[in-house]
Amino acid sequence: MMKIALIAHDKKKPEMIEFAIAYKYILEKHELYATGTTGQKVMEATGLKVHRFQSGPLGGDQQIGAMIASNEMDMVIFMRDPLTAQPHEPDVNALLRLSDVYRIPLATNMASAEILMHALTRGEFHWRELEHLKNKQK
Ligand code: PGA
Repeated sequence: MMKIALIAHDKKKPEMIEFAIAYKYILEKHELYATGTTGQKVMEATGLKVHRFQSGPLGGDQQIGAMIASNEMDMVIFMRDPLTAQPHEPDVNALLRLSDVYRIPLATNMASAEILMHALTRGEFHWRELEHLKNKQK
């Protein structure tokens, strides 16, 4: 079971909902985390259980970042809007940066998010289980 973070900027929320509906059969096997509004919308549209953090601009990205920093997040699906200025741009950058620091599989658009889902079903992220074991031994 992987811990997967879902975040979508406002203009990308419809796409995130499409994604969550299409991949519900995969997502339901995992533990889902999301920023506040994204989590709300995904839950309403799919019935999936989602742990909701604060809304992105109010610190949700940082809360997900904190999980990454303790190597507890296994995958980040971040439907980012590159055409709209975000009030919490520094938080967005910090989240992307931390994902790279911890080598967490990260998708920032639908096309790559789908690839991550397929890779997940093929078992290509089993190496993350080793990280879970390491976390337990700490
Ligand atoms: P939200 O946050 O899901 O609460 O809208 C996402 C964001 O804008 O970072």
